[in-house]
Amino acid sequence: MSFSSLALDKSLTDAIKALGYEIPTPIQQQAIPAILDGKDIMAGAQTGTGKTAAFALPILQQLIKYADALRPIRALVLTPTRELAQQVYKNFVGYAENTQLKVAVAYGGVSINPQISALERGVDILIATPGRLLDLIAKGNVDLSQLQTIVFDEADRMLDMGFKDEIDQILSRLPNKRQTLLFSATFDDAIFKLSKTLLNNPVLIEV
Ligand code: AMP
Repeated sequence: MSFSSLALDKSLTDAIKALGYEIPTPIQQQAIPAILDGKDIMAGAQTGTGKTAAFALPILQQLIKYADALRPIRALVLTPTRELAQQVYKNFVGYAENTQLKVAVAYGGVSINPQISALERGVDILIATPGRLLDLIAKGNVDLSQLQTIVFDEADRMLDMGFKDEIDQILSRLPNKRQTLLFSATFDDAIFKLSKTLLNNPVLIEV
């Protein structure tokens, strides 16, 4: 399978070509068509498998298709750590290089003000850690009412780090009609329980 058979916009295929990607990885081959089809997914994938592009490319594709000049946040990626948030952000920026889409990142341990300024300029896609996201919601700087897609990246680590309450609070702010994508390196009872409350008839992907 090639990237051209995944029906992605030329702006995206040009960007990934420039990054040297030639063939979609197994998780990309399975996840990209399912996400473009609007499905929820539950994917078992370690770092290094290409999981970031597996959700980033179809999210960008969906947002390019229906541009919104008002830039409400339409996609949110939750990560357990600031390092992962930075890495996912860097990937999104690279893939979105030839598009008009705006990406921002928000995590704790640094000043909130530059993050607020970025949000005020308008953002299509936000990458965030749970605690800082809740701070920004409480301050009125993040409105998730127009959200279309949420990604839980490394969901097992999010639970291990004790973010269950934060996840529940964030979920209560999201529209019911949305696409939910859960990525986890491991699957135990806690993840299955979470997936039952989060996902609607998910496509299961294991690589
Ligand atoms: P990830 O698992 O998302 O952390 O990605 C691991 C690494 O693989 C990153 O450096 C990506 O830039 C790279 N990568 C992702 N997809 C591909 C691909 N289809 N071909 C080559 N490299 C890729």
